[in-house]
Amino acid sequence: HAKHLGGNRWQFYTRQLRAYSLDRLQLENQLRKAIDEQQLMVHFQPKLHLASDRIRSAEALVRWQHPIRGIMMPGDFISIAEETGLIVALGEQVLNAACAQASRWCHQGPASVVVSVNLSVQQLRQEGFASRVRQALERHNLPARLLELELTESMLAEHSEAIVDNINALQALGVSLSVDDFGTGYSSLAYLKRFPISTLKIDRAFIAALNDAPGDDAIVRAVIAMAHSLSLQVVAEGVETEAQLQFLKENGCDDVQGYLISRPIDAETFTTLLEQSQPARDLLDTLGR
Ligand code: C2E
Ligand code: MG
Ligand code: MG
Ligand code: MG
Repeated sequence: HAKHLGGNRWQFYTRQLRAYSLDRLQLENQLRKAIDEQQLMVHFQPKLHLASDRIRSAEALVRWQHPIRGIMMPGDFISIAEETGLIVALGEQVLNAACAQASRWCHQGPASVVVSVNLSVQQLRQEGFASRVRQALERHNLPARLLELELTESMLAEHSEAIVDNINALQALGVSLSVDDFGTGYSSLAYLKRFPISTLKIDRAFIAALNDAPGDDAIVRAVIAMAHSLSLQVVAEGVETEAQLQFLKENGCDDVQGYLISRPIDAETFTTLLEQSQPARDLLDTLGR
């Protein structure tokens, strides 16, 4: 009897596994097609510079307009892209789309925006990655200072010659580098001295716990102080409440990003937001109100 049950369970698991891998395989093939056919879209989430109360930067976030499943979020397909190596081609498309849009904002207005792009470690390990970035800047006629690349702590902890070479070449280009999800990695902080980082992005887990977990208040305060003493900028991710914003203002955080300011939005909506917020504020400023 037990054997019989075991057999059933075995069948159950294999059926589950088969369904799972078929699903993955199907997604992988569809993703490959989506990359070929340019079904990927890039949305932009504004970051608000607190000292000037202006949007001065944005994070480019990939979305996939799936023919059947609708809009898919990175959490649904980035891991497949990483496992299959498709992330390199995907990342290249996002980089180009981000440069194209940053260039439009720079040359056509309403205001220049520094656009940041998330990198996969597989891109950064690529020999000549920095020259692909240079080509993207040239192709889109984008000044390097308007591009930022978001890296993670684990990428900076990896002792690989290719990564070090790329990072140094990116700095030479004038592109800025930030550390994403800061505080969630298990790496030492030594990379902050070793690499030309300009910004730390405090992970949203610390921001979510602000005002109700005293330990997290202390961590956020300490990260801001440490960053500033190393001449780094600090961005808080995942800002959702006025109380969090207030805390970050009081503690000198440079920029904030989160649903309280805006969700990630398409380029057109972002442009409208820029038109409505920036000139209106300028006008109010000139009127002295
Ligand atoms: P990330 O780089 O940490 O990006 C921030 C994520 O937090 C985004 O999720 C954003 O929509 C979300 N977020 C922003 N504000 C809030 C908030 O106030 N509350 C909450 N709960 N969430 C907020 P998204 O777009 O789903 O992206 C998830 C992750 O996927 C990104 O995390 C990044 O690691 C990865 N990713 C996105 N686009 C790319 C890409 O083009 N290339 C690579 N390699 N990874 C990407
Ligand atoms: Mg990011
Ligand atoms: Mg992040
Ligand atoms: Mg994060």
